[in-house]
Amino acid sequence: MISGRTVNLGVIGHPIAHSLSPVMQNAAIERAGLDYAYIAMPVEPEDLPSAVAGLRALNFRGFNVTIPHKSAIIPFLDEISDGAKIIGAVNTVVNDGGRLIGHNTDVDGFIDAMHAKNVAAAGKSVALYGAGGAARAVICGLMRDGASEINVGVRNPSKAQGILKSFAPHGAIKIFDWSGADFEVAAMRADIIVNTTPLGMHPNIGEMPPVDFSRVKDDAFFYDIIYTPSPTRLMREARERGHEVLGGAAMLVRQGAVAFRLWTGTDADEGIMMEKLKEMLDN
Ligand code: NAP
Repeated sequence: MISGRTVNLGVIGHPIAHSLSPVMQNAAIERAGLDYAYIAMPVEPEDLPSAVAGLRALNFRGFNVTIPHKSAIIPFLDEISDGAKIIGAVNTVVNDGGRLIGHNTDVDGFIDAMHAKNVAAAGKSVALYGAGGAARAVICGLMRDGASEINVGVRNPSKAQGILKSFAPHGAIKIFDWSGADFEVAAMRADIIVNTTPLGMHPNIGEMPPVDFSRVKDDAFFYDIIYTPSPTRLMREARERGHEVLGGAAMLVRQGAVAFRLWTGTDADEGIMMEKLKEMLDN
């Protein structure tokens, strides 16, 4: 029950009604027996500075940040984690005695979910489809995990040059036109193949990135970060050909659990978070 002592958490974004975080986080709060509450707060882009100042003044312990504020919020925070700095996006803010510290828990979310399947990027060649906001967190995680090379295939390489600029100083990364022969060669030697495009996401469930299954390694691991539907067409087709696959739900739960730990100092029950997530996605 919410009391005078309840510690406040939430998520800001616009729109925000679709957010899956309140249900996942409140389920974890209840399971942990903590006196916290997590709410969704719609914030228009022009209101971001006053919203951040307000959350600080109201002593919110922390909040998640989603579209369209993930990059725009950076100038209003006091400190940014190294990962969030390289990515250029914050998805979690911790209020540490009035100092607002920005983190990006998608990085841990992506990598921890993969490790939970006993797959690590260390020494591996990775082919990645898409170069948007989520790709930045994925690339940061893959580099931190020790991937030997990351080859990014996109439909429009000129739009992806920003990613190259951000990440080339930190590891081996190349950008390709995904319809070209060079990317095909890179995809052929990939140990891990990741989809970070929305191709295949609800309602366009018949789509998938242009993977040529006849040319990829037999034991390539397929990771599609889309969480609705589950499985995606890419996952289904990869699984039919004997590949190990992973979808985006585990990443979504894990990024929330990492944020929960930053705010509360307590481990979240990821089982209950996944259960609630599935209930929401099924409805
Ligand atoms: P984004 O910033 O819009 O980037 C999407 C990327 O995919 C861009 O490179 C874009 O290329 C490309 N793309 C989009 N539509 C395409 C199409 N029809 N054909 C070819 N390429 C296309 O989106 P995002 O925030 O990175 O999110 C991408 C996906 O990841 C979404 O499905 C989202 O739900 C999922 N996601 C999952 C998690 C998780 O926790 N599991 C977290 C974050 C995101 P252009 O630049 O050419 O448009």
